[in-house]
Amino acid sequence: MQPLHIPQLANRQDRTLEVIVDTMVPEFETLTPVRGKVIIKHGGTFLDLAAQAEAIITLKCDRCLQQYNHRLVLDASEIIWLEEPPTEPDRRGMEIRTDPEDLVDSLAPDGHFDPTVWLYEQLNLSLPLRQLCATDCAGIIPPPEPDPEPSEAQQLMDRRWGILANLKDRLPE
Ligand SMILES: [Zn+2]
Repeated sequence: MQPLHIPQLANRQDRTLEVIVDTMVPEFETLTPVRGKVIIKHGGTFLDLAAQAEAIITLKCDRCLQQYNHRLVLDASEIIWLEEPPTEPDRRGMEIRTDPEDLVDSLAPDGHFDPTVWLYEQLNLSLPLRQLCATDCAGIIPPPEPDPEPSEAQQLMDRRWGILANLKDRLPE
């Protein structure tokens, strides 16, 4: 998926572009390609974005730490405002920039939109917060009970005590 020049999107029929996705997304590790679609609509002062996609990913269980495969189902939508970035910092600039939404959710009207980057962000947001291999995962299974047989070191000690006891018997009182 190539970055889209936003003004060209406005010239399209219905001002909408539907991109079929069947690809590995860079930096987002999946067992299967991410399959689905991204729909980008130019709304004049904003982009109306939607994505429906699926992929199998490998996660690590929070409870038992085992890896397991998970079917990630993405159904996301977002509005990104088209605004000229401020040409010079104004006095209120600092205050505005503290709001992270202002940083992420706007693009220059004559700039580019990269569907791959957006899809990557949406996939990351759709990862389950609580990763469990099964709803009834028992967690980390404790190691097996210690061997009830006496250890080798223990047997060696017993033998030495036996020799000592024999010596003691042979000593004159
Ligand atoms: Zn588990």
